[in-house]
Amino acid sequence: MRSAVGSSAAASETGSGVLAPRARPRILPYRLLLVLVSVLLAVWLWPIGQMLQHIEALFPVALHTVTEFAAIVVALLLFSVAWFARSEGQPGNVVLIGCGFLAVGLIDLGHTLSYKGMPVFVTPADPEKAIHFWLAARYMAALTLVLAAMRERPPIQSAFVRHLMLAGALGVTGLVFWINLFHPEVWPRTFVSGQGLTGFKIVAEYGLIVLSGMAAWFYYERMAAVRSSTAHSYAALCAACLITILSELCFTLYANVNGVFSLLGHLYKIIAYAYIFRAIFVTSVRDPYRRLRVEVQERREAERRVEFLAYHDILTQLPNRALARDRLLQAIADARRHQTLVALVFIDLDNFKTINDSLGHARGDALLQAVAGKLTANVREADTVSRQGGDEFLLILKDLPDIEAAGVIVGKLLEALSEPMDVDGVCLSTSASAGVAVWPSDGHDFDSLLRSADTAMYRAKEEGRNAYRFFDENMNRESMERLTLRQGLRTALEAQQFALHYQPQIDLMSGRVVGVEALLRWVHPEWGVVPPNRFVPVAEESGLIVPIGNWVIQEACRQAVAWDRAGLPPLAMAVNLSALQFKRGDLESVLADALNQAGLPAERLELELTESSLVDEPQLVRARLLSLHEMGVKLAVDDFGTGYSSLSYLKRFPVDRLKIDRSFVSELVSDPDDEAIVRAIIQLAASLGLKTVAEGVENESTRIRLQQLGCDEAQGYLFGRPMPADAMPAWLADWMARGDVSAP
Ligand code: C2E
Ligand code: MG
Ligand code: MG
Repeated sequence: MRSAVGSSAAASETGSGVLAPRARPRILPYRLLLVLVSVLLAVWLWPIGQMLQHIEALFPVALHTVTEFAAIVVALLLFSVAWFARSEGQPGNVVLIGCGFLAVGLIDLGHTLSYKGMPVFVTPADPEKAIHFWLAARYMAALTLVLAAMRERPPIQSAFVRHLMLAGALGVTGLVFWINLFHPEVWPRTFVSGQGLTGFKIVAEYGLIVLSGMAAWFYYERMAAVRSSTAHSYAALCAACLITILSELCFTLYANVNGVFSLLGHLYKIIAYAYIFRAIFVTSVRDPYRRLRVEVQERREAERRVEFLAYHDILTQLPNRALARDRLLQAIADARRHQTLVALVFIDLDNFKTINDSLGHARGDALLQAVAGKLTANVREADTVSRQGGDEFLLILKDLPDIEAAGVIVGKLLEALSEPMDVDGVCLSTSASAGVAVWPSDGHDFDSLLRSADTAMYRAKEEGRNAYRFFDENMNRESMERLTLRQGLRTALEAQQFALHYQPQIDLMSGRVVGVEALLRWVHPEWGVVPPNRFVPVAEESGLIVPIGNWVIQEACRQAVAWDRAGLPPLAMAVNLSALQFKRGDLESVLADALNQAGLPAERLELELTESSLVDEPQLVRARLLSLHEMGVKLAVDDFGTGYSSLSYLKRFPVDRLKIDRSFVSELVSDPDDEAIVRAIIQLAASLGLKTVAEGVENESTRIRLQQLGCDEAQGYLFGRPMPADAMPAWLADWMARGDVSAP
């Protein structure tokens, strides 16, 4: 059964339910009820009370008029609140009670005007007439409350039903007035002067008591079943019904309409009305307003949250790019006024991917939060720290007196970041690279400054990481150049703009040509020959080095066999391999295909790997080297001495040759340090059973010194520059014709 004076909106019942204490607070006015019962019992049972019954002066007609008017005003107020303050989602029985009490108030007016001692109201005043109005009003009230309590149907909100209820109430009122004024004879007698109330009247009052009792019971049950303000409204209605019962008891007891019971009955009635009014007022006015207030608060909270999310990064709570842009523009405006500088700093963590991959995303996130905290703690209050996403952060340093000030702050920040920090109970250390762009020299708006800072950050990464670089115009030129190169490289392979040049490698003891190194050349139709040092890094960055490198392998193998067929002595073919190619899973099959297609034995092919290809992931590197070794291809470490080679890996890896980097060879004769290094490399290689090849031999004294030091082979301009394939037979013939192999 659903009966709800009070809010039917589920929100109000469940809304406070979560927080509501388990013990229900006493919301029925027990104390007041106790007082009212005690007063009634006292008057009834106490001899003086019995005497008061007969003192007419206690409840003169004037006082009756005043109390009744008070009750009428409350009833009419009740109607107007229920009728005019109704709203969506409110129970329909609020309007039912309102309309019912409109009728009650109007009929009570009839009662007041008919009371003994009042002037003529259509017919003369008379206790009988007053009681007819009285009983009609009381039944109207009791039936209204019972109906409202029993209503099972959902809230009625349609205007038609509302107006039907109003018309019904007015109709009943009209009928009561018509009967009471013009046909009072239909009523049995209710009051006999001197004797008091008749049996009919008393039974009628008990009927009211039963109805009120039923209503009280229904409301009590509702009150116990629901929570919060709805329960308070039910409690008020329950109290009203109980007080009505007390009021009715008074009217079963009195022998004199002006006596004490009549007085008490009327007073109790006003109190009951007041409780009903309270229930209706709370449901129709107070609760909806409160709910409204809580909802305009909740919405504001949600709006605030949405706004925060639009301008902040969720993970770190730092301003996002949109807010950073705004702050930068503000900082520029300030700097313009104060004639100061603004720095935009682009920070990127150096090893975040490794941490994220190895320790998991949760810890990666925690690290980012820790970094955010560190950055925030190490800049001035007016500066902005923002997260761009991933492991990229932006700083906006305001009001700088000079560029050096930015350097000081960023240097301090990087130092702080490189200190180990506790991340979720794990001690992690990270480092970061930063690029600094300064307004106004490096850009005039957010986008141009961001580009500059990004470029400078890349430079810091290239130059070894864990450092910061200021942007300069050259970087821009270089990055533009890279972009152009990258675009050119995309079509270079298809357009057959690549060629291989070959540089001979000489055995220092015998002077024999033992092999050639294939060196890539890019002949661009507009730019001419682009040296590999310029385009290979770009091709590596973009991944284009893989298809280009595959072409190099095929072409070198093909050329080796072509020379064989042309009658040249069998030459070893060395090919440079980039780290990216080396790490790809399909290297073996690419090599096998190239060797097969060309018909070149695997032992004739040598792969030159840089030290940097070999340092990461030693297990994988070793496995790959072993499988290449098994295929039969030779392996050489290129540019040896410039990287981070460790002796242990050389021992474990199946490499065949070390190529001593040109930087040690070129000054070999004049620089004792270089000589010491070359000597050490040669000794090391010999002890590991590896051959050595010296790169960049340009003069005779170097050749002789290398020979003395025990170096096996050499290549360099002294013997021959890299040359196109078709120049090789002539060069070789010339070389062999000289006969004196040790002195070209
Ligand atoms: P690298 O493998 O160390 O090649 C030797 C470089 O030294 C070549 O430069 C060669 O022309 C140069 N060189 C040889 N002898 C002398 C000399 O006596 N004096 C001087 N000053 N230089 C000499 P190049 O051809 O410009 O190649 C530069 C680098 O580009 C190579 O260094 C290699 O790392 C890379 N590279 C060349 N071709 C390829 C390729 O097909 N694939 C890949 N991944 N890298 C390549
Ligand atoms: Mg090489
Ligand atoms: Mg080299």
